[in-house]
Amino acid sequence: MEKRKSFAKSHHKAAIKRLIYENGSLSRTEIQQKTGIRPASITQLTRELIEENILIEKGLGNNQKGKKQRLLTLNPNGGTVIGIEFDPQSIHGLLIDLENKIISEKNYTLPEKATGNQFVEQLKKTIHQLIHADPTHMTPLLGIGIADPGLVDREQGVSLFCSQIADWRDVPLRQIMEKEFQLPIYVEGNTNCKLLAESLFGAGRNFQNQIYIDLSYGIGASLMTHGSFYYGVQGLAGELGHIQYDKSGPICSCGSHGCLEMFVSSSAVIRSIKNAIQHGVISPYLDHIRENTAFLSIHSFIKAANENDKFCASLVEEMGRTLGEVIANVVNLLNPEAILIGGELADLGDLIINPVKGTVRRQSLELATRNLAFKVAEIKDRPASRGAASLVLNQVFKGNELF
Ligand SMILES: [Zn+2]
Repeated sequence: MEKRKSFAKSHHKAAIKRLIYENGSLSRTEIQQKTGIRPASITQLTRELIEENILIEKGLGNNQKGKKQRLLTLNPNGGTVIGIEFDPQSIHGLLIDLENKIISEKNYTLPEKATGNQFVEQLKKTIHQLIHADPTHMTPLLGIGIADPGLVDREQGVSLFCSQIADWRDVPLRQIMEKEFQLPIYVEGNTNCKLLAESLFGAGRNFQNQIYIDLSYGIGASLMTHGSFYYGVQGLAGELGHIQYDKSGPICSCGSHGCLEMFVSSSAVIRSIKNAIQHGVISPYLDHIRENTAFLSIHSFIKAANENDKFCASLVEEMGRTLGEVIANVVNLLNPEAILIGGELADLGDLIINPVKGTVRRQSLELATRNLAFKVAEIKDRPASRGAASLVLNQVFKGNELF
């Protein structure tokens, strides 16, 4: 009997924590209405959660009769979490509180051709620095989320493969970091972390069924259905960049020919610019690069496209149409609510969204596109680290449900 009682109590406490995490702040009456827990128990349980530093009382709200009631919210000092992302050149980490406020941020650039071991050691160092950056040294660190740029076995916390980091294969990241920090460690694919951040704080807030397309060096995609990620049986779902677009196209790093990312990605843009220069194509942007090759970058390309440079604008238009043709098939297959475009090329904004939208609307089933939203990702600053930190918060407050 006692056992059953204590189970019900911890179950009810978890339900209250989860509600407040999802809603920001609620009064006791609202918690009662949403959970059905008896009012006397709510008073007792919320008192305990306040004593445990998980909740605080903050501000007043109205109940149904218009009477003022104290609101309960998460105690920002109740814990911190770390979110970390890495790519072949750099490591970035954030320490945030329970209000998602950044307490500290660390960046590290790796030497060229850094080995897997160097990476792991630097990841550890960066996390140690973030832990020491908590000015109070009192707040419990609840866990560490890692956004991995390669293929991941997220259940085992193993980083399987990253084509751009030398000797990076089957790295047991969770095991290594658990041993070092004695904390819960979550490893997730970088694009999933970005979609998680957008779904919580950005352009994906109002959608449960959405696809995030990461237009960077290659193309990554993350699929969310009913608020959960879709992984596929081996976690390989979302390889949108390797959908074949033109079988007579150039050979791709995956061994196939004419994959989508050979036509739409930052690396495809750089290739097209070099190609155009070689073939004597004329435009102010290309002339500028002919004068000074240091001017060639994705940043300068986006700026020139926005200034309506003929070559850049038409390349963006063509990329948008190509991407739209592939997304049209994806929309027919999955019928999502929203398509989010993120990554480096998302800074093109409407210039890329409009041709994508136009093509999808023309080529997908009319019913599937009637209410389909197209959005540019909103979180510009380190969305993967943000999402990695949210992995931990979701685990702490929502349990396993996201996954
Ligand atoms: Zn490929």
